[in-house]
Amino acid sequence: MKYQNITYSHEHPRIDLSIGKNDPDCLLNGYLDCIDELRDIHAKGVTRWVDCSNHGIGVDWENNKRIFEDVGIEIINSTGFYKTPFMPDYVSTASVEELVQIMLDDLAKGAKVIGEIGTSKNEWTKDEHKVFEAAVIAQKQTNAVIITHTTLGTLIKEQVDFFLEKGVNPKKVIISHVALSNDLDALRYALQKGFNIAFDTIGKTKYLPDETRIEFIKTLVKEGYTTQLLMSMDITRQSHLKKNGGVGYAYLLDTFIPMLERAGVSQETISTITSENFTEILEA
Ligand SMILES: [Zn+2]
Repeated sequence: MKYQNITYSHEHPRIDLSIGKNDPDCLLNGYLDCIDELRDIHAKGVTRWVDCSNHGIGVDWENNKRIFEDVGIEIINSTGFYKTPFMPDYVSTASVEELVQIMLDDLAKGAKVIGEIGTSKNEWTKDEHKVFEAAVIAQKQTNAVIITHTTLGTLIKEQVDFFLEKGVNPKKVIISHVALSNDLDALRYALQKGFNIAFDTIGKTKYLPDETRIEFIKTLVKEGYTTQLLMSMDITRQSHLKKNGGVGYAYLLDTFIPMLERAGVSQETISTITSENFTEILEA
């Protein structure tokens, strides 16, 4: 096996956005719906997923345990609240301190990540702000990793500025979904300030072709940012599964990585991105 101990840095072993989106396509349980795909990527070197589901969007830690026991993929659990309008109702009325306490309780029970916590498209709602405020406090007390969600790659700079202003260690923060917009400078802005960024929508070509993602990764590697890059697929829908005509979980390994290699990105670099960087972030 060319690559081993691969981490998918942003997945959803179980996610339920079906009510908010009014679409049954958005209820997905990897364990129940496509265990064969999980076994396939495990055989191809994937040993860890970061679960970016949390309160209100169908997280299930018992399910994560079953995936580890039956498939062998370890799942890193997360805490927090996603974004408007997919948060539990109590977030609107809770105080920042109460949200901090929920996060601290989950972190004490073994979660290692606060995420994904999100901003809306070109908008940062009041509740989303509250969640970010709480995440900063919980992060500083525990040194947990923060994973953010940017909607279609908007507000990357604003998120970066927020964390800098609050004095959060950028090495502990992963900004997600950066390659859904064609704004390489926003990515550089985050990287220059020491943040990690995730190319975690590999295979989602509706907003940006994978060829552009390859160009971005190639450019940023050349500029010296290899250790701040991550990759994943963020599969959240039934229609993303192979059996339903989607790209499937193995696309990153079978299609995208060979494209990166053909574009001249070395195996050593790819290995750093897929197999080392998340561990470094956890331990920073
Ligand atoms: Zn997301």
